[in-house]
Amino acid sequence: MYDIAIIGGGPGGYVAAEKAGKKGLKTILFEKKDLGGVCLNEGCIPTKTLLYSAKLYDQARKGEKYGLRVEGAELDYKKMVDRKTKVMRKLVAGIGLRMKGAAVEVVKGEALIMGRTEEGALRIAAGEATYEAKNLLICTGSETFIPPIAGLDMETNEAIVTSRELLAAKEAPASITIIGGGVIGMEFASLYNSLGAEVHVVEMMSEILGAMDAEISGMLRAQYAKKGVHFHLSCRVAGVEGCRVTFVDSEGAEHTIESEKILLSVGRRANTQGYGLETLGVELERGGIKVDEKMRTNVPGVYAAGDVTGFSMLAHTASREAEVVINNLCGHDDTMAYDAIPGIVYTNPEVAGVGLTEAQAQRQGMDYDCLKLPMAYSGRFVAENEGGEGICKVIVERATRRIVGVHMLGNPCSEVISSACIAIERGMTVEELERVVWAHPTVGEIIKECL
Ligand code: FAD
Repeated sequence: MYDIAIIGGGPGGYVAAEKAGKKGLKTILFEKKDLGGVCLNEGCIPTKTLLYSAKLYDQARKGEKYGLRVEGAELDYKKMVDRKTKVMRKLVAGIGLRMKGAAVEVVKGEALIMGRTEEGALRIAAGEATYEAKNLLICTGSETFIPPIAGLDMETNEAIVTSRELLAAKEAPASITIIGGGVIGMEFASLYNSLGAEVHVVEMMSEILGAMDAEISGMLRAQYAKKGVHFHLSCRVAGVEGCRVTFVDSEGAEHTIESEKILLSVGRRANTQGYGLETLGVELERGGIKVDEKMRTNVPGVYAAGDVTGFSMLAHTASREAEVVINNLCGHDDTMAYDAIPGIVYTNPEVAGVGLTEAQAQRQGMDYDCLKLPMAYSGRFVAENEGGEGICKVIVERATRRIVGVHMLGNPCSEVISSACIAIERGMTVEELERVVWAHPTVGEIIKECL
């Protein structure tokens, strides 16, 4: 009998498994594809690996600005893809070793929940074998949401792709229409724009990047529009036919764009079907598994973490939720909080944000100050980002002086944002954060400058 069975080996599942194994729980992990889940195999890591090559290429082309003459800079997409595969394999193998190191039993196969034994143990089948466990953690992740658009049939139309097909492709498209200007859509827009493709982004909302800071999203959009990306905001896709996407703008006028590929990136949907959740009567909410702040479902002994909860849908959220489950199982009280979850867009320049945006603070009726500076206040930013435009905004609750949000545009804000996460997570005030000595010259100092 296992102490815990975990279904899904992504950032939720493998982090939980490693922690459980190291804490001495008898642990079994089921993964039907590759360890690492979407994040390592078709999400975070492959996108960032390709984007890094694209960024180097952008830098090489701008080399003159830095006194660097790079003649004949060219991108070799095949080499980029081969390197991406190498990076993924290395990291997936590393997770295998981590599972071994934590004495986790890994079963490669599709797990099916079979209900409970008479004694109350949870039964899980994989292939011919069945396993019994005292606790079950579901980390089955998510899939690309396929919107109900006329003519949108991926089986018959090879032009229509999701991030999975694009990341597996050996060649980059010469032109692409991206349906959905969220984080994933914008990262692909950035990649293919660097590669020289014609890129169109069709977005239903009036701004890209959904819930991120609207001012920063607008600035990023303006920078990419300057680089040649075509944005179609407040536009609803009406149909797809072959390589053509037809959409209707806010005035009701119809437009059609033709491109080699059409990327669907309007969101992701939790994987809750096809593996026996119903046999236990696990309750769903807004399309995901319903959990409380300790990641417990309505069924005793059954937990869920990561994208399958239909909430947050980020790798670092999945891992932290997984930790909450294992800490509680090991008797250490722990709860999940969502106030300080960073969101990052790995475009060039990057966007990063954590905590409340101005719009969210306004919706909450919060009286706040927005402390804002151009990134050019950071000497290091100016030294390393010739001609770069960026901004840093710190949102402070006026009554308590607590920092409740930090939002940035400019490289490398994906690295800088963690300091803001700590400040928000610990409920720090402006005065408390000001007392911290920030290394100089660093881009992160911009947060202190704002204060
Ligand atoms: P997943 O990683 O989806 O893993 C679930 C696993 O469960 C899968 O491996 C699946 O095969 C397995 N599984 C499902 N059902 C069964 C079953 N019945 N039996 C056995 N195994 C099963 N997030 C970030 O934080 N940063 C990023 O930069 C980022 N970039 C992204 C880019 C793209 C293109 C995409 C698509 C996603 C990106 N994400 C990013 C999101 C991130 O990948 C997910 O939030 C994260 O992978 C969720 O982890 P998870 O453990 O919940 O599920």
